[in-house]
Amino acid sequence: MIIDGHNHLLAEYVRAGELQQHPDEVPEFDLAAFDSACEELEIQLMVTLVQDMTRIHGGWQGGHPLVAAFQKLRPEKVIGLAGAEPLDGNDQLNQERLEEVEELLESGSLRGLVLTPPYGNFYANDPACYPFYAAAQRAGAPVFMHHSAQLASLLRAPMKYARTWLLDQVAADFPKCIFLIEHMGFPWTEELFGVMVSCPNVWTDISMSRARPHLLAWNLTVARDYGLLDRITWGTDYVGKRVDQWLAAVKADVEWLQTELAPILKGCGWPELTEEEMDGLLRGNSARLWGLE
Ligand SMILES: [Zn+2]
Repeated sequence: MIIDGHNHLLAEYVRAGELQQHPDEVPEFDLAAFDSACEELEIQLMVTLVQDMTRIHGGWQGGHPLVAAFQKLRPEKVIGLAGAEPLDGNDQLNQERLEEVEELLESGSLRGLVLTPPYGNFYANDPACYPFYAAAQRAGAPVFMHHSAQLASLLRAPMKYARTWLLDQVAADFPKCIFLIEHMGFPWTEELFGVMVSCPNVWTDISMSRARPHLLAWNLTVARDYGLLDRITWGTDYVGKRVDQWLAAVKADVEWLQTELAPILKGCGWPELTEEEMDGLLRGNSARLWGLE
């Protein structure tokens, strides 16, 4: 069994005001194909993330009604996460979004929260973020943070908003809340590991890291030295509505991790992942994060 702990299936970019409400409204999405894919690949669970990107970019990655409806259709297989911009366009607390998120998390309509500081041009330790963290902690909902720079245009993700040291006080202030920092906090992975060592409630994932295979191999090696491998999950980060494309992304990632990673580690003289560690990466750690075991 495997768990795709981070993707955006049914969570493509849409302009604000054009949000779809239900998978039935998405002709490219095939629910029966999704069921077959889960069976074929032995997918225990998948986690799909909505990103609120209204503050700077004027739109959403996905939308709450659509992803909540997807989770409701397949509650055993799908976990949907809400997105939030904690600050509005005037740099004030986004009260409307806070109330929406509180309702979604309290009701279980969505089961976690996603913040994207570089995309929203805010710092993770901005006081406006704190009521959102408090809401997540109250509801027992993990907070996923896109806290990595894209090394692309400044408009897309200014690096100053993505430094991982910004998170240690936040994680310490909400000790009962799990914070998962996506993409190993690229490119500040070792800085993130420092935060993870001092804050046992901070996790990370390796999504999108396969594009830098030697760096990924090195970071997993360092994570073992720090004793952090059991807080690292995997996800495809697939963005779109096509089940066949998502299926291909899952297959490509899993095959790479199971066949291509070990030769790199071996070639560098670094320890290979044990069977148990690989199972943790592909399934077990996410299962623990979501309270399945
Ligand atoms: Zn993502």
